Amino acid sequence: MPFAQLGLRSELIEAVAAKGYDTPSPIQERAIPAILEKRDVIGGAQTGTGKTAAFALPMLQLLAESDFNNKRPRALVLTPTRELASQVHQSIRDYGQKLRLRSTVIFGGVGFGPQVNAFRRGVDIVVATPGRLLDLLQRGDANLSAIEILVLDEADRMLDMGFIHDIKKILKHVPDRRQNLLFSATYSNEVKKFSDSILRDPVEVEVSARNSIAERVEQEAYIVGQKSKRAMLSSMIHTGNWSQVLVFTRTKHGANRLATQLEKDDISAMAIHGNKSQSARERALASFKANRIQVLVATDIAARGLDIADLPYVVNYELPNVAEDYIHRIGRTGRAGKAGKAISFVSETEEEYLWDIEKLLKRQVPLYAIDQNGERREVELNRKPTAKKHAHSKNRGGTGNRSNRSGGGRNSGGGNRNSRSGGRTYGGGARNDRGGRDGGDNGQQSQSKRRRPSGQRNRQRSESTPTESSSQGSKPSTFRSKLSNLLSRGR
Ligand code: AMP
Repeated sequence: MPFAQLGLRSELIEAVAAKGYDTPSPIQERAIPAILEKRDVIGGAQTGTGKTAAFALPMLQLLAESDFNNKRPRALVLTPTRELASQVHQSIRDYGQKLRLRSTVIFGGVGFGPQVNAFRRGVDIVVATPGRLLDLLQRGDANLSAIEILVLDEADRMLDMGFIHDIKKILKHVPDRRQNLLFSATYSNEVKKFSDSILRDPVEVEVSARNSIAERVEQEAYIVGQKSKRAMLSSMIHTGNWSQVLVFTRTKHGANRLATQLEKDDISAMAIHGNKSQSARERALASFKANRIQVLVATDIAARGLDIADLPYVVNYELPNVAEDYIHRIGRTGRAGKAGKAISFVSETEEEYLWDIEKLLKRQVPLYAIDQNGERREVELNRKPTAKKHAHSKNRGGTGNRSNRSGGGRNSGGGNRNSRSGGRTYGGGARNDRGGRDGGDNGQQSQSKRRRPSGQRNRQRSESTPTESSSQGSKPSTFRSKLSNLLSRGR
């Protein structure tokens, strides 16, 4: 179905043609007509499905057809992060370039002056993160009393980041009679409760089963000891000649450290996370998009909403301890119907996270180990929980060093090892595990409110404990060359 059949006006059709879109994506095909009919819409779509245009195009059309003589904004788009706010705003500008509508983007970390002036001059569309918008409202510098359309983008993440109270306060400034559009990649009970409280008789638009991920993303996971991860990543990047990889770490400190380490391996890398200034974040993102650096190392919050065209690889250097984050992370690749690959490194402390992810995905992620000969072998999983589900957390004793239990596990090739921990049994797989944690990721958790799998608090604490220095006892060069051989032969 061409865009013209969706009921969009010619200026918008021309704008999408200029962006190179031939046909509407499934969510656009279904959401645009419903929004044009002024219905509330709940969209279950992960990022990368074209959801921004799905709400922005009809929103622009409705605004272009209604009252032009109002200085107050008539549409409000709330997003969880500055990056997403910037991107959504840019899309709105691109799509609406032939319409006489004014838009502005509001987020923290920058001066108030230009934002206050934008409201004073008059604006039709405001794209904002909740915190700064609330500040402006409380200072009396923003007026939302003429809002006709409210969009909650990535609602699940906004709730996850604890924005619910800010959003509720903002909604007190918005008229009750309005059109509501809510988009969420995942659909937890929390999101359902929230959407029930806001939406009126919504049209449900879902492009794939909830909590599923883009089918074009090829996923695989590797059992790899925490201290072997860096060598494994460097080798994969070198061997595969990867030019653009988004790598996720769980902590800001871990992101910084990994970026520095990769530089030492002759891989250009920058980190992006919440402790970086807005300008540093924008610089890193621009360098990555322009292919001036190979690797962007990101935490979950910072990476949220990043739209990087044709991103081919996402690596979960550490698995997220909230399974939904996995979906968001790997949704960075395989966007708009393009192929992508997501690779996860699973250390001995993360096995249960993978299990949680598989439960959420309702499918198994192929899991491999590299044996001492550098061979890649698929690992069979017994996913039945055992009575000793969390027994291992006690054994960690805060050091995180399991080498004394691993029977030769400090060998870079790993040695054969049947791991039985975290309620999962890796039956009959060779396992590359040097034991112990890198120690680089201790300390700061990302800003996201974390929901841990029950019973994992001990483990969580031990993961936050500094451990020994990184590569002692390993033979990175041997390991790397074996892995190189493997990867060049095996793919
Ligand atoms: P989103 O899910 O909104 O983040 O969009 C993901 C990517 O898909 C963005 O780079 C958009 O520019 C692109 N995109 C959106 N709609 C289409 C379309 N109909 N055809 C091709 N690409 C699209």
